[in-house]
Amino acid sequence: MSDAPERVGRSTALIAHPYVPPATFGSMQPPVHKGSTVYFADTAALRARDWRSKAGYTYGLHGTPTTFTLEARVATLDGGTDALLVPSGLAAITLVDVALLGAGDEVVLPDNVYGPSRELARHELARAGVVHRSHDPMRPGSLEAVLSERTKLVWIEAPGSVTMEFPDVPALVAAVRAKAPQAAIAIDATWAGGVAYDGFALGCDAVVHALTKYPSGGGDVLMGSVTTRDDALHQRIKATHMRMGWGVAGNDCELVLRSLPSLALRYAAQDAAGRTWARWWQQRPECVRVLHPALEGSPGHDHWKASCSAAAGLFSVVLDPSFGQAKVDAFLDALRLVKLGYSWAGPVSLAVPYDLRAMRPGADAGGWLVRFSAGLEDAEDLIADCERALGAVARA
Ligand SMILES: *Cc1c(COP(=O)(O)O)cnc(C)c1O
Repeated sequence: MSDAPERVGRSTALIAHPYVPPATFGSMQPPVHKGSTVYFADTAALRARDWRSKAGYTYGLHGTPTTFTLEARVATLDGGTDALLVPSGLAAITLVDVALLGAGDEVVLPDNVYGPSRELARHELARAGVVHRSHDPMRPGSLEAVLSERTKLVWIEAPGSVTMEFPDVPALVAAVRAKAPQAAIAIDATWAGGVAYDGFALGCDAVVHALTKYPSGGGDVLMGSVTTRDDALHQRIKATHMRMGWGVAGNDCELVLRSLPSLALRYAAQDAAGRTWARWWQQRPECVRVLHPALEGSPGHDHWKASCSAAAGLFSVVLDPSFGQAKVDAFLDALRLVKLGYSWAGPVSLAVPYDLRAMRPGADAGGWLVRFSAGLEDAEDLIADCERALGAVARA
């Protein structure tokens, strides 16, 4: 492209301005690049460009220096070779499903899977001719029973959303490799945050995160990722990623890049607060059971011990049967520091009520469960908040 002509209108002069800042600016945070259009130096460069190659840039949707930087760091976090970014954790699950499944194929989900993942299977995947099968992840035999030559993808989630059971991941992987060697295994490792366990070391082919949670840590970004080690698998998912038109914004990447250096410290702090808070609940008469994989007696605690070096600051409290919905709601409404809301891993502690019967039909007794996620407040203050709210309910 030739330089701008010398005599041009003011708007043109402002757009085609000759000043270019010096190329190097050494500082801790990488610069944020944004752009839909990417300029090519000439037609030869435009024609030669292959969108798949990360040696250059084609179009904003296919990657910018900022998205490539975050992809590389997420791949490092997971111990993989390549990562792809999508606009949410749920979109990361969708990306893997759409890339690997077609009419006549089967996908296997744990019965405690992240709810929207099951809904996706029940609706969009079913309409595309994909059949989904459920299994109890705490019984590898139950997984084996639903595997066949039609199985193309098996999802693992560790631990289960809300009910927090920690499965024997290597045993589940072994069952798939033995009975459905053609199937890819994807793990939703959001809970692990790239810290508590290594999905590839546990034998999985793709590691999926809601970067929305710990990697962002601010409660202000929605983003997801799919990390792989095998190039053929990566290329397959990358091609679908391109065709689906999913891009992420440079400013959102900036926030995650800013948060990654403190990820391990935040994870450790929220783990410690979560365990302190969960142990306090264990002593409370209103509590029947605390579900937290790092606590003795929680479902799958031994598997957690074998696979994990830490735990997310996330746990569920099964309340006494005397706590009907009205009492549960009164307790939650009396909390001040702990906010009511979905998602987790941000600085503010959160609580959400769930009807246990609706979560896993047939499993456990019924009743109400409250899932808590520890933020970055002092654990004693979270405990005091709960103590005061329980007192208010008792007096009502
Ligand atoms: C939050 C979450 C997701 C979805 O992430 P979003 O960014 O909210 O779409 C998926 N899986 C698990 C286990 C999660 O906790």
